[in-house]
Amino acid sequence: MSKVQALVQGAAVPDMAKAGNPRQSLAAEVTERSGAALNRCYHCQSCGNGCPFVQAMDYAPNQVLRLVQFGMRQEVLTCKTIWVCVGCHTCSSQCPMSIDIAAIMDTLRLMAVEEGVAIGKPNIIDFHEEVLRSLEKYGRAHKLGIMLGYKRQTGRWLKDLDVGLKMLARRKLDLIPSRVRDVKEITDLFKCYWREPA
Ligand code: SF4
Ligand code: SF4
Repeated sequence: MSKVQALVQGAAVPDMAKAGNPRQSLAAEVTERSGAALNRCYHCQSCGNGCPFVQAMDYAPNQVLRLVQFGMRQEVLTCKTIWVCVGCHTCSSQCPMSIDIAAIMDTLRLMAVEEGVAIGKPNIIDFHEEVLRSLEKYGRAHKLGIMLGYKRQTGRWLKDLDVGLKMLARRKLDLIPSRVRDVKEITDLFKCYWREPA
């Protein structure tokens, strides 16, 4: 068991009370940015039990919170979990302490990009950008367009082709995108997003 795994599984609990401990500052930063009181977590693991993507994660959602509580900035910002999370809010709705875990994942993704760390799932940013472009253009996600755009960006045309064909056969993918009525309102929101930083 690695040192990090030992920590997140509770095999070793570092002294959190030391003055000037940088681990406390990471928890405070994430709490402030996400608005989620992550220190209320008592690691009941309900969040991970309900998460539909936990099998693909390197750390369960509560373990991510534990990494933050311990101030393990590098480990948490480079882990796969924060990028595998799709923000479905299942965990947030099941948490007995009303911790908005999805908001914490959002914050950690943002911090990972801002700090320029190695992304745990390198191609995922391309996927996120394709989703945003679809929302900007149509006001809703056009799944086929997103998949084709992602394939164009990564050049991995054959990966998951079988899944795509099955979805097409079951009519889970619309060939023609549809737009929401007031798409301009949504398009205008994206002007801020794509704007180059001053
Ligand atoms: S459900 Fe809430 S309290 Fe339980 S481990 Fe997850 S974040 Fe912590
Ligand atoms: S928001 Fe993320 S971590 Fe929470 S249940 Fe959904 S995929 Fe899992």
